[in-house]
Amino acid sequence: MPWLLFLVNVVSAMTSANEIADYFRNCLSSGSSVYLTSDPASVNATTPRWDLWSAPTYIVAVKPALRGDVQKVIEYASQKNIPFLTTGGGHGYSGTLGAIKDGIQLDMGNFNTVFVDADKNLMTAGGSLRFRDVAAAAHAKGKSTTIGACSCVGIGGATLGGGIGFYSGLYGAISDSLHSVDIVTGTGELLTASDTENQDLFWGIKGAGFNFGSVTSFTYRVHDQPNGGMVMNADMTFTGAQNASIWEFSKTMLGTQPPELSLVFAMRYDPEKSDIAIIVNAIYAGPLEDGKALLEPLLKLEPTNVAISYIPWKDAPDTAVYGITKMTCASSYTYVPHAINLYDINVEALSELTKHVYNVTSTTPAVQGTLFTFTQYASQGFRANSDANMTAKGRVGSSFPYREPTVFVQIDGLSFDPSSVDALDAFGNEIRAQLLELSGQNHLELYSNFARGDEGAEAWYGTENLPRLQALKARYDPKGLFSFYNPIGGGKQED
Ligand SMILES: Cc1cc2nc3c(=O)[nH]c(=O)nc-3n(C[C@H](O)[C@H](O)[C@H](O)COP(=O)(O)OP(=O)(O)OC[C@H]3O[C@@H](n4cnc5c(N)ncnc54)[C@H](O)[C@@H]3O)c2cc1C
Repeated sequence: MPWLLFLVNVVSAMTSANEIADYFRNCLSSGSSVYLTSDPASVNATTPRWDLWSAPTYIVAVKPALRGDVQKVIEYASQKNIPFLTTGGGHGYSGTLGAIKDGIQLDMGNFNTVFVDADKNLMTAGGSLRFRDVAAAAHAKGKSTTIGACSCVGIGGATLGGGIGFYSGLYGAISDSLHSVDIVTGTGELLTASDTENQDLFWGIKGAGFNFGSVTSFTYRVHDQPNGGMVMNADMTFTGAQNASIWEFSKTMLGTQPPELSLVFAMRYDPEKSDIAIIVNAIYAGPLEDGKALLEPLLKLEPTNVAISYIPWKDAPDTAVYGITKMTCASSYTYVPHAINLYDINVEALSELTKHVYNVTSTTPAVQGTLFTFTQYASQGFRANSDANMTAKGRVGSSFPYREPTVFVQIDGLSFDPSSVDALDAFGNEIRAQLLELSGQNHLELYSNFARGDEGAEAWYGTENLPRLQALKARYDPKGLFSFYNPIGGGKQED
């Protein structure tokens, strides 16, 4: 009888969840917590997932307190063949995560301290901290570090994919500031990776770090705050008709923008105005008047709205784009991502694309939640930390491949209505393909942390990096335990 079979399945799943939970309760240190996910208490006690799309499912959530506890969780899951996922800030959204069914959430929430040693210019952050935590700590000591655009995103997950943010023009990728990490690898080893220890692993962690283990702490080099810790945040709104001038500005800036300046061009359909709205956000880590002068070509276009403020850098993520990212932090979304890197701006083709976006979004309510963002930083920071330059300094380079002027394009399919998902997905896919075609590039490349999950390891990590990364995988995670978030391949999960 099917219902009987169903009942048996449910009971056996519950039993195995109980077995797992009991095992961890017995063997983990007293500061650890273990939850059955069927227990409502687990919801508030563990890090929620931001994206509701392609979500992994868990039967047990564990919050280890010590590195040795993390090791026990990994070893047990490995022995019992149970899929698990390490989570930090909960903002990872790649569709590859949906492959985890009835797994274990290895929630790093107890690794939550941050310490800034101002004399040594080092900051050590636990594996679950968010941009806002490290920004507040560094700023309080007069230091700065690269953080991303949304204060609630985990700096750990961002770092492991490379990490990009408004200080990237100065300091490069977030992972370029890494001094060392403490990691429990897929082989169960407790290792430190740095310029002097396990150097090859350190190289892989800085860009493809999801693939090798659970990181309990990240130590970053921090810098004296530029411009006394103040930045200009400028938000300007333009109409759809002005799009060509905006792309023109983006093109002029690509490769020439000063390291202190970061730019985001965000475009969406505004149903109230029945028009495309383009918001340009500029963050400038220098004197206010200098920042405004750089934006003169845009201000001359007479934006329909201008908001310029001069604020501590730690507050930039919550202020940027009229504070919209602060709002997106507040709740979970159904979010279907697509992304592509562009290395040049083709003004004419992008104007055509904008027209197409208008035509589709103005007539198709299901895709009106699509937000297009084009993010560009100066390349000095990225170049200074390239493999070649780091090797020349006797330090370990990085597997984050995007060192030349790059526009990180995201096609964010956002909705509160799950029934829009297919339409958003199809539209995002179509626009990504059009961007690839207009770019003239012969293959897709993108920042792995912006991935939908269908692009493949070469697109995320770079063709040249893959053999070295796969060799690291064979060494540090031969069973492929860490293969659910944009996997580099070579592990059991792909076999
Ligand atoms: C609203 C929003 C804004 C964003 N803005 C930026 C930005 O400005 N710059 C940028 O670079 N990225 C940005 N991202 C992308 C972000 O870097 C990724 O989503 C990242 O994976 C989030 O990390 P997390 O710890 O919050 O997420 P989680 O879902 O907790 O982790 C994502 C993955 O990282 C791995 N992971 C996380 N912590 C650990 C750990 N301690 N040890 C081992 N593995 C770990 C796991 O594989 C996990 O599946 C943004 C994402 C969102 C949703």
